[in-house]
Amino acid sequence: MVNLILFGPPGSGKGTQAKKLVEKYNFFHISTGDMFRYEMGNNTPLGQKAKEYITAGNLVPDSLVIEMLKQRVIQNKGVYGFIFDGFPRTIPQADALDKLMNSLGQSINKLVALDVDDQEIINRLQERAKIEGRSDDANVETVKNRIEVYKQNTTPVYDYYSNFNKSAKVNGLGSLDEVFDRICTELEGL
Ligand code: ADP
Repeated sequence: MVNLILFGPPGSGKGTQAKKLVEKYNFFHISTGDMFRYEMGNNTPLGQKAKEYITAGNLVPDSLVIEMLKQRVIQNKGVYGFIFDGFPRTIPQADALDKLMNSLGQSINKLVALDVDDQEIINRLQERAKIEGRSDDANVETVKNRIEVYKQNTTPVYDYYSNFNKSAKVNGLGSLDEVFDRICTELEGL
């Protein structure tokens, strides 16, 4: 099994690239953001709890995210490999993921981070707000908060996997296919 974390700031293209990776390699894609949007769309108790955090551009508390993620992984433990998109976003989430993988006799093989600068993120999310209508993309202040939260809470996860020589950065600017090729190069030999 090959398990991959697709990492990067909001709007860096994780979701789009994850879909291309699924087509090429047959990964099972887990996006915690998509899962929360589904829960909110169905107005479930979990969706109701997550909503205030997501709308403000803050992280949903670790306990809620980890519980949701665990269930999804355990339900699908026979797959070729997982792509984690938007998870882990904090060190406690990374710890929990490693423990979960261990308990299944698995591990994270690689973290690939998409490198995109702040101004490009703001531009992309403004475009995405028009197309997808996500409330957390439309407001520039919310977007700036998400970028701050990413820098404060999430970038340490990159260093966490660097300690195991598992982190790699790729340039997230360019065409979808160019970025995809860079990611695939990082996966060679896994
Ligand atoms: P993006 O990468 O564009 O920020 P996501 O769809 O990954 O979008 O996440 C949207 C929102 O969902 C985040 O801003 C956060 O509030 C919440 N969320 C998603 N994944 C996590 C996570 N692993 N931990 C905490 N909150 C999360």
